[in-house]
Amino acid sequence: MASELEAPAKEVPPAADPNVPATHPSKQTVDPWNVAGEVGEDGKVKAIDYNKLVEEFGTKLIDKEILERFERVTGHKPHRFLRRQIVFSERDLGVILDRYEKGEPFFLYTGRGPSSDSMHIGHTQIFDFCKWLQDVFDVPLVIMLTDDEKFLFSEKRTVEEVIGYSRDNCRDIISIGFDPNKTFIFSDYEFMGGAFYKNVTRFAKLVTYNQAKATFGFDESSNIGKIHFTSIQGATAFATTFPHIFGDDEKKVASIPCLIPCAIDQDPYFRLTRDCAARLKYAKPSLIHSRFLDALQGPGSKMSASIDSSAIFMKDTPKQIKDKINKYAFSGGQVSAEEQREKGGNPDIDVSYQYLQFFLENDEELAKIGQDYREGKLLTGELKAICIKHLQEYVAAFQERRSKATDETVKLFMSVRPLKWGGNPRAQRI
Ligand code: ATP
Ligand code: MG
Repeated sequence: MASELEAPAKEVPPAADPNVPATHPSKQTVDPWNVAGEVGEDGKVKAIDYNKLVEEFGTKLIDKEILERFERVTGHKPHRFLRRQIVFSERDLGVILDRYEKGEPFFLYTGRGPSSDSMHIGHTQIFDFCKWLQDVFDVPLVIMLTDDEKFLFSEKRTVEEVIGYSRDNCRDIISIGFDPNKTFIFSDYEFMGGAFYKNVTRFAKLVTYNQAKATFGFDESSNIGKIHFTSIQGATAFATTFPHIFGDDEKKVASIPCLIPCAIDQDPYFRLTRDCAARLKYAKPSLIHSRFLDALQGPGSKMSASIDSSAIFMKDTPKQIKDKINKYAFSGGQVSAEEQREKGGNPDIDVSYQYLQFFLENDEELAKIGQDYREGKLLTGELKAICIKHLQEYVAAFQERRSKATDETVKLFMSVRPLKWGGNPRAQRI
C-alpha cells in the first residue's frame, strides 16, 4: 500500500519565498508560508475552499458523529470552534478519544513561529483552543517556539532578534492562561540537544531531499537549513523527545502519541511526521486542524503579522482596534444604509461577522446577528460596533493577564522540568 505521504504530497503547490508577499495565482495556495484563495474569472479572490483542502491533503472532515463521541467520552459540550467548523478537519482524532476513554496517556503539541514582538488575534485562536483541550483532557502540553525556523526562512532577521521574539511570544502564550504544572514552552535554540536532537537526527535520516521537495516545494536554491527544519518540527511530536516529562524508558514512552491542534497549513509537516513515526516504531501523531482567521481585507487571505493593516495585534489599544475595524474590515453589506435595509447584507463574506464566529460564545446570539444582517435589520456600522466591542474586551482581558506575566513566569514555563497532571480521575499518569 502506498504510504500516507506519497499520494497527497504531490498536490501541494510549491512554496514561494516567504519574504515575498503572496501574489495571487489563479489556483488556491495553502502551504506553511502562503495562504491565498483562488482568483476567479472576474479577477476577484475567492474565499479559501476548506473542503478542497481536506480532499487534497487526505484528511477527514470533523463530522457530527465524532463530535457526539467527543461529548460522550469527555462529558464536555464541544468548543464553539468545533460546533462551527472553525476546527474542521482531523487525522486519527478517534485514536486519542480511545486512549482517553481507556485512561491511556497522550499529550498535546502545538507551536508558534516567533516572527514579531506581538502575536495577533489569528495566532491566539489556536492557543485558546489548546487551553480548552488541556482543561478538558488534563494532559501535558508542549509548545514549540520555532525561532530557528524564523531565522532560516527570512533574509533579514538575525538570530538575536528571533530569540527576543521567542521570549515576547512566550509571554503572550502564557497570558492565554496555561497551567504551568502541565505546560512546557521551549525555544528550539535553547532546547536543542539530548533526547530532542537524537530524534531530530533519526527523523532527518529517513527523509530524502526528494521527499522534502515534493512535500514543501523546495528547490536547488533553498538553503539546507530550511530542508532540515522539517525534522525539528517533526521530532517534537515524539514523546521520547521529552524525558523530563515522560521519563527515560524509551520503549514504554515511544507508544505515547500526541494530538496536534494547528492551522491546516501545517499539515504537510505532520503528514511527513506520521510516515516517519511509523518507520521509527513511534506512535503516530493525531491532528486537529483549524481554518484561518481572515485578514481584515476579507476571506481569501489570512491575517498576517507582517502586513500591519491586515491584523489586530494583542498589543493594540482599544482605539487602534476600533479604527482598524472601521477602516479596513471588509463588509458584506450594501453601499448605503437605505440599500442595506432594503436588500440586506451577506454575513458569509463579512469580516466582522466572521470574527464574531470566532469570539462570540452564544450560538443563538450569533445566529440572530447573522439573520438580522441578512435581512437588513442590522447595518454594517452596527455589526462593526458589535465586533469592535468583543475584540476590545478580548484584547483588554489578555493585556491584563499579560501585565502579570513576569520574566520569572517566562523562565518557569521554559525551564526543563517534570510536569504534574492527572488530577482529573479519568486522566492517566505514565
Ligand atoms: P508573517 O506575516 O511574519 O509570516 P504570520 O502572521 O503569517 O506572520 P506566521 O508566523 O507565519 O504568522 O504563522 C505561523 C503559523 O501560525 C501559520 O503557519 C499558521 O499555522 C498560523 N497562523 C498564522 N496566521 C494565522 C491566522 N490568521 N489564522 C490562523 N492561524 C494563523
Ligand atoms: Mg506567515
